[in-house]
Amino acid sequence: MSLIRQNLQAITATIVATVQESGRQPESVQLLAVSKTFGPEAVQEAAEAGQRAFGENYLQEGLDKIRALNDAGAPALEWHFIGPIQSNKTRPIAENFAWVHTVEREKIAQRLSEQRPEGMAPLQICLQVNISGEASKSGIAPEQVAELAHKVAALPNLTLRGLMAIPEPADDFEQQRAAFARLRTLYEQLRADGLALDTLSMGMSADMRAAIFEGATIVRVGSAIFGARNYNKA
Ligand SMILES: *Cc1c(COP(=O)(O)O)cnc(C)c1O
Repeated sequence: MSLIRQNLQAITATIVATVQESGRQPESVQLLAVSKTFGPEAVQEAAEAGQRAFGENYLQEGLDKIRALNDAGAPALEWHFIGPIQSNKTRPIAENFAWVHTVEREKIAQRLSEQRPEGMAPLQICLQVNISGEASKSGIAPEQVAELAHKVAALPNLTLRGLMAIPEPADDFEQQRAAFARLRTLYEQLRADGLALDTLSMGMSADMRAAIFEGATIVRVGSAIFGARNYNKA
């Protein structure tokens, strides 16, 4: 059995066990396979093992992979953009991805909405929140989330689904949970405020279990599926 298939099975088993351990509904957590830096063959292998949702951080790399997988006649895959967005690069994102997890500015959201092709389903959106408050991290400040969320929810060709965060790495499980709990609290406030959200995109290879305990509905997992990344290879 291929290593990618083995890893997918192991992660799926961990997700199922953690969902149960935390008292949540079965199937309430979706696995997003983060394939950045890995080639189309790796995605193909994961697709053959049944994985359908893939996350990409770098636009050109993602577009090349989407094209390669289409050409290879892969089953219909769902592509999520999870990297930083430059405002002059919104059109290919709007045209080629099903989801965007990293919206943090109104202007970007407006462009994505305007550029979403007619006839495609609305682009599914998460707002990225800077939950750890580090100066260098991307994401909107927690106190600004509500205003942006209401603006994005009103745009015609987008569907605001929820919030996303990449907390500061922490080894300690309780520390990991505390950061995810802050995102969940914000999410619950927005829902109480009338926004129909259903998505908390949080948790990666190293902190997926803590995220599930705090209500993650999408975990974004890369290295635990595909192996360690080598950024110098390309
Ligand atoms: C790379 C990346 C991931 C996956 O990280 P791993 O630690 O490899 O699981 C998840 N989310 C985002 C936004 C990423 O950039």
